[in-house]
Amino acid sequence: MLKDYEFWFVVGSQTLYGQDVLDTVAARAAEMANVMNDSGKLPCKIVYKCTAKSSDEILNVAREANYDARCAGVIVWMHTFSPAKMWIDGLCTLQKPYCHLATQYNREIPDKEIDMDFMNLNQAAHGDREHGYIAARLRMPRKVIMGYWQDEDVLDELGVWMRAAVGAAFSRALKVMRFGDNMREVAVTEGDKVGTQIKLGWQVNTWAVGDLVEQMNAVSEKEIDALYSEYEKDYDIATENTEAIRYQAREEIGIKRMLDSEGCRAFSNTFQDLYGMEQLPGLATQRLMAQGYGYGGEGDWKVAALTSVIKAMTEGLGGGTTFMEDYTYHLTPGAEYSLGAHMLEVCPSVAAGRPRIETHHLGIGMNRKDPARLVFEGRAGRGTVCSIIDMGGRLRMIAQDIEAVKPIMEMPNLPVARVMWKPLPDLKTGANCWILCGGAHHTVLSYAADARLLSDWARIMDIEFVHISKDTRPDELERELFLNDLAWKFK
Ligand code: MN
Repeated sequence: MLKDYEFWFVVGSQTLYGQDVLDTVAARAAEMANVMNDSGKLPCKIVYKCTAKSSDEILNVAREANYDARCAGVIVWMHTFSPAKMWIDGLCTLQKPYCHLATQYNREIPDKEIDMDFMNLNQAAHGDREHGYIAARLRMPRKVIMGYWQDEDVLDELGVWMRAAVGAAFSRALKVMRFGDNMREVAVTEGDKVGTQIKLGWQVNTWAVGDLVEQMNAVSEKEIDALYSEYEKDYDIATENTEAIRYQAREEIGIKRMLDSEGCRAFSNTFQDLYGMEQLPGLATQRLMAQGYGYGGEGDWKVAALTSVIKAMTEGLGGGTTFMEDYTYHLTPGAEYSLGAHMLEVCPSVAAGRPRIETHHLGIGMNRKDPARLVFEGRAGRGTVCSIIDMGGRLRMIAQDIEAVKPIMEMPNLPVARVMWKPLPDLKTGANCWILCGGAHHTVLSYAADARLLSDWARIMDIEFVHISKDTRPDELERELFLNDLAWKFK
């Protein structure tokens, strides 16, 4: 998906310096786009679009960017001075994500050669400040990246922002399929679907479980045979209950057909509404997540959508991303961990080893037969857990840095996939902070997405972003949340 998008490079100047300077600016801007593309460090292509010299030119390129579906964002840079009143019309019109790359063509000041001609041509320090002022004055949500355009950290920051911008495009087109309503009486999985669609683009609609059952019944034994042999290739089959596995294959094919026929990239269901189904989809849901579909349990459409957005933004990065739930704590001093799992549905993209297919009784809900599921341990490594909650009239996104470990015990009687981690700064403070924020028990756990990517995305979508990191303290966070809440009331 990332390769379907491009970013437009618009370089600011003005007519004051004459045609020679403008020709040089244009040639260099095109060269810079090529070199950055050839670096192999950016997930999407940069296209040099124009050297902007007038209000009309800037307005036109902003209009074009808005209407071009391939354009996921605009990157601007001021090679020379570019008086910023020229940018007002264009910036007020621009609806695409906007990044100000504050850089300079030459790395060094050439000691002997520098004269006033050189200064006129190479004055990004001057021009980028004028541009920064107008964007600040317009209160434009924007990403500012400062540094030499060939440096690895600059390209890395730009690449992260590009992923967030593509995530914004994905989000604005995202359709979510709900089977059944939210779990009865649960608060955090509720939310304003109209308000969320206005803000994030998510189209969240419901389909009857009966329609899914009909779709499942239409799956042929031959199709199930074919999928079953894929299961045998990818997993160890640790059950004799072949029928339960075949039933999950039927569910996987049925759900996928329904999602694809409606163009949905995420779905939710609930164990309280499985009318006509024999098993809660476990293996089926886990497999669909591994294919990039988002999922949320108990009707949690927000976490379903967020799972698919984060999977889309981190395409090709590896590491794994899954729907997750904080379940239980290990509170031994010095070895304090959170154990995450779900009834069944953890994505095998986070598995440390080869998953096993097992069947076990699931007492909760309407399961008439033992659901098959993938059981595995999550891998060790740094990651993030992320949640979006409805604050009433607005959304809050919370991201917390975590350090996942190999689970410190075997837990041979736990019949589900599990991930064990330490939230930062430590379990006690980290869980305290999470609860202060109102973060959900459902999260997206990702080894590929970090707080930079998620905050870039939240800025583009214009929602509150709270980051819980190694430096977060509950008293300071409480103050931040209070002030944020006030500030968002004025927006
Ligand atoms: Mn749950």
